[in-house]
Amino acid sequence: MQFKKLADLFSKLESTSKRLEMIDILSNFFLDIKTTNDFSDLDKIIYLLQGQLVSNIKQFPKLGLAEKMIIEALSLHSGINGKEIKNILLKEGDIGATAELILSKKKKQKSLFDFDKDMEASESSLEISELYSALQKIAKTEGSGSQDIKLGILRSLMRKCSPIETKYLLRIITSTLRVGVSTLTIIDGLAQGFIGDKKARDFIEKAYNQHPDLGDVTLILAKKGIEEVKKIKISYGTPVRNMLASRVSYSEIIDKLGKPCVAEYKLDGERLQIHKMGEKILLFSRRLLEISEQYPDVCQVIRDKIKAKRVILEGEVVAMDHFYEKMLPFQVLSRRRRKYDIEDISKEIPVSIFLFDILMIGDESYIDRIYPERRKKLEEIVEQKDEIRLVDSKQINSTEEMLDFFNEARNAGTEGIIIKSIKNDSFYQAGNRGFLWIKLKGLEGGKLADTVDVVLVGAFYGRGRRKGWYGTYIGAVYDPLNDKFEAFTRIASGWTDEIMETLKSEVKKYEVEKKPSDVICDDKPDQWLIPEIVIEIFGDEITVSDKFSSLGYSMRFPVFQRIRPEKGPKDVTTVEEIKSLYETQ
Ligand code: ATP
Repeated sequence: MQFKKLADLFSKLESTSKRLEMIDILSNFFLDIKTTNDFSDLDKIIYLLQGQLVSNIKQFPKLGLAEKMIIEALSLHSGINGKEIKNILLKEGDIGATAELILSKKKKQKSLFDFDKDMEASESSLEISELYSALQKIAKTEGSGSQDIKLGILRSLMRKCSPIETKYLLRIITSTLRVGVSTLTIIDGLAQGFIGDKKARDFIEKAYNQHPDLGDVTLILAKKGIEEVKKIKISYGTPVRNMLASRVSYSEIIDKLGKPCVAEYKLDGERLQIHKMGEKILLFSRRLLEISEQYPDVCQVIRDKIKAKRVILEGEVVAMDHFYEKMLPFQVLSRRRRKYDIEDISKEIPVSIFLFDILMIGDESYIDRIYPERRKKLEEIVEQKDEIRLVDSKQINSTEEMLDFFNEARNAGTEGIIIKSIKNDSFYQAGNRGFLWIKLKGLEGGKLADTVDVVLVGAFYGRGRRKGWYGTYIGAVYDPLNDKFEAFTRIASGWTDEIMETLKSEVKKYEVEKKPSDVICDDKPDQWLIPEIVIEIFGDEITVSDKFSSLGYSMRFPVFQRIRPEKGPKDVTTVEEIKSLYETQ
């Protein structure tokens, strides 16, 4: 397919913020594709709509294109000097919009005077597949002379693009493509466009939750139909989307889950989804990225101590002291996040994996089994030792028993507990934050009994001792329906100088001149940030306030707790959760 068609689609989608209109635009687009019966680039189109080059569970190799080079390419292409481009970029705040502006002006001038051959060429089309092979080439080019080769490829791409295509091309290569459609909206568009029935969306979503590659799911839908989509199931080598826990006031937990239920320690480590395929072990992170190399010790103990040839498990990996007696906080574990000297750091910081779920064994999916059955199977196949254990769990019959267990868990150095349903519908709900799992992290302090994760969208310079550094950040929560980040609170305390310094260099990569289009915020920070860095905060209470955005809620006395590198911007606390936190505090 021509890239031009996709650029037109992006442009149409960007012109509205209404979800129903977006669904209509998407469904017409998919209906067109269905009629042409050409699905060759369909998976890529889906990823680009999601603002990525590949699916969530894969990573496209790094392109290694610095802003300087992109400006140089644009300068050579347009004949406008680099300095001028930089000035426009400062005003526009986005390289895509800058390119579109410059090139459309240029085009108008040219068509007034001489219709240049070059511009005629720019009307010739770039194919999506061609764009991908060019980007692959750019990523692969290394060593001496590579900069010139990359520049050459970039220029030849630009030559084939109209101004509007260049806008999206540059957003793609700078990872700032955000069309503003959420994955749920794309799924609605697929159901309406390919099947002509809104209800089909549930089957597509279920398939996506078990196989989080929407490009793959879409190809099956387009080529084979909805019946084949219904057959998409959990499989080895592809991570399933995580089941997550909700929050409610502690006095309501037992009512919500029914008696009896079970409570487990909520460990302060990193979630791992473990795929054991004989000797081959794959570990997936909370963001569903493969991180097996980071934990060779966990891979080995899974090989040795799990009595099943093929199995998919979930657990929390926790840093331990050298006697494997005391659990150490997440900050210690986060030191294991590195690419080099993994053996050394594994010895320095030993870990235990605490298993809490099983999703598949042999060829049998366990996702639709109730929790007691899953736990029983887990107990049967784990040979426990220091490095591998089952998470502590207890049957609970009353709020008092739950609170006792909570205190025990906190004394053992955990974050709190997760209380889980054991009723007849206690299935593993992939990709869902429902009420079958409820977390309880705190009772003391202010009214609020839990932390909130926010993504940084803006920063203010500090005063006095912190002059020259950012002293305050604006944290936003996520609205998955509209795919927007809503400013929630200013965070000015809890930072150590060390954290401030780390953050300052981290956020540098995401500084932009203008408010990003997917951020809703009425505050006026000194610096806007592309939503990427996630932090955890704690506060006194959620209050009603429309100070920062249309959200209507904010937090009193927010305090920074920690950076959360294992979470992406869309994994932060949602608008819905903030509302329920407010109602239950
Ligand atoms: P948090 O910010 O609290 O870590 P989260 O967004 O990652 O939350 P939640 O659903 O709120 O996810 O809480 C579940 C998380 O708690 C899991 O992702 C997992 O990492 C961790 N965890 C620790 N112990 C358990 C357990 N026994 N059962 C399930 N999850 C557990």
